[in-house]
Amino acid sequence: MATRRTFRGGIHPDDHKDATCALPIQEMPPPARVVLPLRQHLGAPAKALVQVGERVAQGQVVGESGGFVSAPVHASIAGEVTAIAKYRHPGGFMAESVVIEARDAAPAPAEGQEPMPWPPHPFTLPGANPDYESMAPDLLRSLIRDAGVVGMGGAAFPTFVKLSPPRGKRVELLVINGAECEPFLTCDHRTMLEETDKVVHGVRILMRALDVARAIVGIEDNKPDAIDVMTRAFAQVPGVSVVACQVKYPQGGEKQLIKALTGREVPPPPGLPLDVGVVVQNVGTAARVADAVMSGLPFIERTITLSGPRMAQPANVRVRLGTMLGDVVAFCGGLTGDPERVIMGGPMMGVTLSDMEVPIVKGTSGFLFFDAQSAADLEAGPCLRCGRCVDICPLRLRPAEIARFVEAGDLDGAQALHVRECMECGSCSYVCPSNRWLVQLFRIAKAKLNERKA
Ligand code: SF4
Ligand code: SF4
Repeated sequence: MATRRTFRGGIHPDDHKDATCALPIQEMPPPARVVLPLRQHLGAPAKALVQVGERVAQGQVVGESGGFVSAPVHASIAGEVTAIAKYRHPGGFMAESVVIEARDAAPAPAEGQEPMPWPPHPFTLPGANPDYESMAPDLLRSLIRDAGVVGMGGAAFPTFVKLSPPRGKRVELLVINGAECEPFLTCDHRTMLEETDKVVHGVRILMRALDVARAIVGIEDNKPDAIDVMTRAFAQVPGVSVVACQVKYPQGGEKQLIKALTGREVPPPPGLPLDVGVVVQNVGTAARVADAVMSGLPFIERTITLSGPRMAQPANVRVRLGTMLGDVVAFCGGLTGDPERVIMGGPMMGVTLSDMEVPIVKGTSGFLFFDAQSAADLEAGPCLRCGRCVDICPLRLRPAEIARFVEAGDLDGAQALHVRECMECGSCSYVCPSNRWLVQLFRIAKAKLNERKA
């Protein structure tokens, strides 16, 4: 095993993982109600396939894929569809969603008809088989697509699409992302320890689907137990190596991980890992791929981390998709007081929520609850022109200058300084002594540039 690979730039925030890294994943029982947004992935939203009043089985498709870059959405509990309407999405927008409420009994049968068995048998995907080595790559890809598997590292890009490179693009290496570089989050760490076999099978399935002979699993070396478990688990798998990476943010960014593990530089946008012959998948995604192909399980639950100073009992917990955040928090022991700030994801790239009335979605890796003190530490001031943000940007951008253009409303100036290339890693905001909200400015600029293009 090689050790301590890394990339240029980056920062060293306190990882705050001690609160949850040793806590086994708890299993939350299915809730009485779920809200399933039809947009839980990058690409076209799914299209509702059910109607209000319809009874659905667990795992049944409730939203069909809306295009090539899209993913289906499945019922995460059995019950009755009670609404199809717009609900708040944790990404900060309103999204068409299917609401399912659990029911104790089947509806009364029509005269002369047999009563419906209740709850109905959970739906599984036809064609699934533990003997995936005998399955054609096309079948593997279609099972992964039909299970609605998307990247679980945050971006939620449909996995099937990444496994279907365009003509002329040759993939020769699979990189498995076990870096989990965002502070506080430990769900990937626990997945490597507790779903080890599924990760191994998932990696082998992904290699077969991509027709590649080599894979590298990259893990930050603040997880020595995961590195040890994964190294032993892959010891007998030809072509797979486990590599420890230096603890540095954003080590888990696709480009940074590829650079650290292979020395290859992914070209600036629209350049992709494919351009250097690589596909990157997250360790949690690999486990869900194994579920889909070997057991026919649709993607209806995931592990998330709940942490931060306001969380009474920080936890790693497996929850059904669509479970409301408030229900998960209550299951885990509640909060010690009103949070001053709630963030979905990590503190570096996460999204601040206005309230807890949001469901868990496929790309949710965790929620953080901050008290007034931690939130006050984040008050912003003017730029001091210290240049720290420039020194650490892993993409060699000039964040302070871009921010000045955005604040002045000069989108062309921001574009000329490559604001579109910003990966929103948050490193510049982190090192800024004035706590400037640089990433937020860059997100706004990118959204406005996209609007202008549309
Ligand atoms: S400018 Fe973008 S890519 Fe560079 S450090 Fe800031 S957020 Fe990260
Ligand atoms: S780190 Fe902050 S204060 Fe320093 S130059 Fe960048 S934006 Fe200005």
